[in-house]
Amino acid sequence: MPFVITDPCIGTKDSACVDVCPVDCIHPRKDEPEFTEASMLYIHPDECIDCGACVPACPVAAIYDSVDSTPASQKSLVEANAVFRAGDAGAVAKAEEIVKGHMASHPDLMAVAPTERAAAHAK
Ligand code: SF4
Ligand code: SF4
Repeated sequence: MPFVITDPCIGTKDSACVDVCPVDCIHPRKDEPEFTEASMLYIHPDECIDCGACVPACPVAAIYDSVDSTPASQKSLVEANAVFRAGDAGAVAKAEEIVKGHMASHPDLMAVAPTERAAAHAK
């Protein structure tokens, strides 16, 4: 079961998780061309080895340890993590479209600071 990045990453995107991931499965990295435009970062579900290193590294608790543990409000972002591929313009656009849809359908979450969003997931 892969780890999943969720919406507290939107507006944070500090790459702390990238720096600790042993298999380089979190993208886009800062040195990839998609980084500037990406709303958040994504974990490649087939490459994640479930080591857990990224979770304590994230300053806003954006990362859940499985699809099952990802809150209902964040489920669309599971798909965004799954489809994003650095270097594939179509996949990048699709992931971004999913994220924009998530933002539009969760104005309540987007209205709170990224640091408070994970706490709001449980409500
Ligand atoms: S759980 Fe480990 S392998 Fe998976 S994204 Fe996090 S740091 Fe990378
Ligand atoms: S550490 Fe958290 S906020 Fe930072 S890029 Fe990774 S998932 Fe996003």
